[in-house]
Amino acid sequence: MRAVVCGAGISGLSAAAFLSRNGWQVSVVDHAEGPRPQGYMIDFFGPGWQAAASLGILPRLRELGYQIQRLDYVARNGKARASLPFSGFAEVARGKLTSILRPDLELAIREMLPTAVELHYGRTVAAVGQSRDAVTVTLDDGMVHEADLLIGADGIHSVIREIVFGPEEEFFHYLGFQVGAYSFSDPELAERIGDRFAVTDTRNAAMFFYRLRDGSITAMAVHRTDNPALPDDPQALLRSRCRDLGWICPAALDRCPEDIYYDHVAQIRMPRWRTGRVVLLGDAAAAVSLLAGQGASLGMAAAYVLTEELNQHPGISSGLATFEARLRPLVTEHQKAGVSAAQWFVPATRGASFVRRSAIRLAKMPGMTRVISSAVIGKSGAAL
Ligand SMILES: Cc1cc2nc3c(=O)[nH]c(=O)nc-3n(C[C@H](O)[C@H](O)[C@H](O)COP(=O)(O)OP(=O)(O)OC[C@H]3O[C@@H](n4cnc5c(N)ncnc54)[C@H](O)[C@@H]3O)c2cc1C
Repeated sequence: MRAVVCGAGISGLSAAAFLSRNGWQVSVVDHAEGPRPQGYMIDFFGPGWQAAASLGILPRLRELGYQIQRLDYVARNGKARASLPFSGFAEVARGKLTSILRPDLELAIREMLPTAVELHYGRTVAAVGQSRDAVTVTLDDGMVHEADLLIGADGIHSVIREIVFGPEEEFFHYLGFQVGAYSFSDPELAERIGDRFAVTDTRNAAMFFYRLRDGSITAMAVHRTDNPALPDDPQALLRSRCRDLGWICPAALDRCPEDIYYDHVAQIRMPRWRTGRVVLLGDAAAAVSLLAGQGASLGMAAAYVLTEELNQHPGISSGLATFEARLRPLVTEHQKAGVSAAQWFVPATRGASFVRRSAIRLAKMPGMTRVISSAVIGKSGAAL
């Protein structure tokens, strides 16, 4: 059996690894010139953990990852106003949690990719044709692949979704935020961040900081905006929206490099993830957003379940149907969790900030960590 995967992110690489191990011939194409360096911290736990174990990458994830002890909501002077015990959350997850930079998670999967998988950067899919027996995938360099299955794992702005299922607007649900992320070095700022995940306790916009083991800093800036249009100059917009957040924010914004990650905070909701021999996977099918905090984990889980179902069913169409039936309830639950986390993630009002701080203080009480984490940072307990 032969598969073409469009997108070499977490979902696409995982699908390539699982399918190849199960005897499929797999080609992966990605429009980026190489692995994307732009990173942000991911909390990896929940449904993808079993998939990562099955790929054999857990030791590598632990090596590349971080065990964050606490999340501090800091005032303008950097002092913690409220602390969320991450260690308690890890206990709830029975230790099956690591925080890891997105490029490092991709790296761990890429390192485990069977050599038989063909991985081509700098290419994308230009056209897709289907017959009863095959899917014909034409790449932008003119090359044509005949395959049994095409997997669109090309993220929230998927080209496969656009070509095969319809325009992005039909499925795209903007959640009212935009987000930028980048890394930089500044020993003095790193010292002030210390050994904690530090978040500004601010309204309508917030910056998140974590010091990495090489001393550099990973920063994320989130701001509320009713206008979903992405700016021409994300750095300038972040500077204007986040400069007055206080603490180290102005200095950190001065260190913002040219090439940053910047996008909407949004979900993809589709009535169907498959048609004929084409299936969407990960964010392309069902982005849950950073507010739900488990998109990467769900992408890996989806690749695992897809391979299992294709193995168990003789026909592609029944394998894809049972894959979707198994995964959809979990995705729907996480999408709901993401929507309800929106008001607490970056509060809009003084009252909401106050309620969030009070709720976080409750998290120290026995049994409350899961409930509060789920409500405040979207880490749904459902998958634990
Ligand atoms: C700031 C932030 C924080 C997050 N935190 C967490 C977290 O704590 N835990 C968690 O589990 N998830 C988290 N997520 C979500 C997670 O990052 C995504 O859900 C996950 O990366 C989705 O993986 P994917 O492989 O489906 O898509 P992507 O990561 O978007 O990968 C898509 C791939 O397809 C390629 N591609 C795109 N377009 C094309 C094209 N036209 N042709 C060919 N290739 C193409 C891209 O280059 C990329 O390699 C977070 C996301 C953000 C933005």
